[in-house]
Amino acid sequence: MSKSEQLFAEAQQYIPGGVNSPVRAFRAVGGTPVFIRRAEGAYLYDADDKRYIDYVQSWGPMVLGHAHPEVIEAVVEQAQSGLSFGAPTELETELAEELCRLWPNMDLVRFVNSGTEATMSAIRLARGYTGRDKIVKFEGCYHGHSDSLLVKAGSGALTMGVPSSPGVPAALADHTITLSYNEADAVRACFEEFGDQIACIIVEPVAGNMNCIPPVPGFLETLREVCDQHGALLILDEVMTGFRVSLTGAQGFYGIEADITTLGKVIGGGMPVGAFGGKRKIMEQIAPLGPVYQAGTLSGNPVAMVAGLETLRLVEESDFYKPLVARTDRLVEGILAAGKAAGIPVTANKVGSMFGFFFTEESKVTNYQQVMACNNERFNHFFHGMLEEGIYLAPASYEAGFMSAAHTDEDIEATIAAAEKVFARLD
Ligand code: PLP
Repeated sequence: MSKSEQLFAEAQQYIPGGVNSPVRAFRAVGGTPVFIRRAEGAYLYDADDKRYIDYVQSWGPMVLGHAHPEVIEAVVEQAQSGLSFGAPTELETELAEELCRLWPNMDLVRFVNSGTEATMSAIRLARGYTGRDKIVKFEGCYHGHSDSLLVKAGSGALTMGVPSSPGVPAALADHTITLSYNEADAVRACFEEFGDQIACIIVEPVAGNMNCIPPVPGFLETLREVCDQHGALLILDEVMTGFRVSLTGAQGFYGIEADITTLGKVIGGGMPVGAFGGKRKIMEQIAPLGPVYQAGTLSGNPVAMVAGLETLRLVEESDFYKPLVARTDRLVEGILAAGKAAGIPVTANKVGSMFGFFFTEESKVTNYQQVMACNNERFNHFFHGMLEEGIYLAPASYEAGFMSAAHTDEDIEATIAAAEKVFARLD
């Protein structure tokens, strides 16, 4: 029995399913989750001290790689001055100033403790600001687990949503409209019918929770256009894409303007941080300036703020993104070539340092239906084959992969060599 198997059995006695976030339980791929003891740079080490080249990177935040010495030093130093004060610190202003300077549509920003809190608060703000209740989201996008967002499409294209989890009131789900990602016409039709009732659209500008699906040309532009026409707000959820696809996220990458931006992951450098920010007249509606309530005991936590500040200082260094993106390109090309050589139909998407592979005959994957139609069984075999070879991929075929600045050319070559071996064994 491996240590991970032993630890998983123990964890299940006290924690539902043995994990504190469901995807970690490996239900999608089967088998036992790897229990991690430590991490450094591009590598994770499990409880048996086996090393893995990691392409999950804690689901995105660790763009510098794990345990970056300068981030750790800043965190340790700050921790010695106290872990939480429940009162303002200059560190919060410093990080807020940094975000407002970099992100063109961010005049004011509020820190929270997770991406879920960021999107939940952004939606409350959009509803409060517009005085409308309905929101529009897209199938396959994930924005955390707040009630308004755990909703899937109803039976007809334009019917109201139904809860995607027990515990979400149907009356609340009724206010969420779920449309197909990358289908601009459906968005236009929806606004024709409900335009004056819609508070906001929330969207992942590059979808990273149904594998990796970039927006097709014109999709994000249509969202901006209909929001402007109908007085709704556009929330770009850049929790995953922020400081990942570029220094200014997908907004900078695609030249699209948000009314409210949500951030998380990288801005906390691995500590629990989220943020939502936007145009002054909108953000001024937030308490204590305005009537829309939002709060948090640990929000703006000083240790988390320094981890974020140090991370941003490092990613802002010139030439940070170029090699990161080049290494992502090399990995994707290498794995596609390995698949081709082995006669395995596989395609890929990538934006910046995000990527995803699809086991499909189709040459291009642009929507949720295509993602769901991919060969899951083959992915699961690939996943376990790679894990055995010491390559840690996301344990589900509908998750994006992430490169970090700590991955070396040797790591990439080792990963491609492992993929060659695994492809040769796949049916
Ligand atoms: N928004 C997006 C785009 C995400 O990818 C996630 C998490 O993966 C969230 C929101 C929720 O963030 P958290 O898990 O920190 O609550």
